[in-house]
Amino acid sequence: MINRKEWREALKDIYRGEMKFDVPMKDYTGLAIGGPADVMAAPDDPISMRDLIVFLKKKGTPFLTLGRGTNILVRDGGIDGAVISVNTFRKIEVLKEGIRYVDLFVEAGLSLRELVNFCRERGYSGIEGLTGIPGTVGGAICGNAGSFGYEIKDVLVSVAIMDSNGGLGMFRAEGLGFGYRRSDISPKDIVLSANLRLERFEEAEVSKRMEKFLREKRRNQPLSERSAGCVFRNPGGVQAGRLIDEAGCKGMRVGGIEVSTVHANFFINRGEGTAVDYMRLMDEVSSIVNKKTGIVLEPEIRVIGRD
Ligand SMILES: Cc1cc2nc3c(=O)[nH]c(=O)nc-3n(C[C@H](O)[C@H](O)[C@H](O)COP(=O)(O)OP(=O)(O)OC[C@H]3O[C@@H](n4cnc5c(N)ncnc54)[C@H](O)[C@@H]3O)c2cc1C
Repeated sequence: MINRKEWREALKDIYRGEMKFDVPMKDYTGLAIGGPADVMAAPDDPISMRDLIVFLKKKGTPFLTLGRGTNILVRDGGIDGAVISVNTFRKIEVLKEGIRYVDLFVEAGLSLRELVNFCRERGYSGIEGLTGIPGTVGGAICGNAGSFGYEIKDVLVSVAIMDSNGGLGMFRAEGLGFGYRRSDISPKDIVLSANLRLERFEEAEVSKRMEKFLREKRRNQPLSERSAGCVFRNPGGVQAGRLIDEAGCKGMRVGGIEVSTVHANFFINRGEGTAVDYMRLMDEVSSIVNKKTGIVLEPEIRVIGRD
């Protein structure tokens, strides 16, 4: 049990930022699902972040980092310990603009949409395919978000990471083990910012490509529904959504969760859906696909929290 008074007292001189207790995670996830986190903190600056982490370590309180919650399923029992949000870190800055390339500094809490728009307005090329992906830059980096053959790793030069002791390090992107929707960034690390390199290009052309990708996404994905993006990873070269569709699962429902009729690899919260419903639907869908194809579907979303 967290003693709020004791925490407030201990942190009052070293921590600046928001801190709330017993916070319903359903208010912080794209799926609108999830029980309460014991603590939610949004530090104002990296020093407060460091001091908070040191404090949590001393208390033996676990923590995890939250972006916009668009790729996670939080269980109905909520989250043990602290959720640290980087949403107050939102700076974006041009470091250097050369003839062919531009170097950007971006903080982890900036939304990917704002980064994409920034690049669209200036004709910076390299992330056109990321148009329409929700969430933060930090979340995109951790899971190497991508679409239409573009991945965030392709424009990453280096990433500033705070480790679970509050130590700050700068890491070259090549050393971070990026692959299909993955990286070696540990769940105990916090991505604070990144340096990116993009190509300078015709504004109109960059904009045209982004519009085309966005149109396609709007046609094929339920972008305005409550979801956590793709539920399962694409096994090998096959689209998980196609396998689920061909197995006849579109529209299948458990409680308040439904397999999207627009894109079968998206599960939609139709109202009062719970994490239990969501996981039962995952089991049912993957078992039907397995019986039909022999393929085992692996989750792409991250399931976190206590039952
Ligand atoms: C409608 C829809 C469409 C989507 N389309 C795509 C798509 O085309 N391609 C794609 O790749 N994804 C897609 N997604 C999934 C999701 O938007 C991305 O994975 C996004 O990058 C997640 O960012 P987030 O800030 O919401 O991360 P969160 O969901 O908050 O977190 C995801 C994981 O990253 C960790 N994390 C987040 N921020 C940090 C940080 N600063 N430091 C350390 N760890 C951190 C969290 O602990 C968690 O484990 C889609 C989602 C939706 C809802």
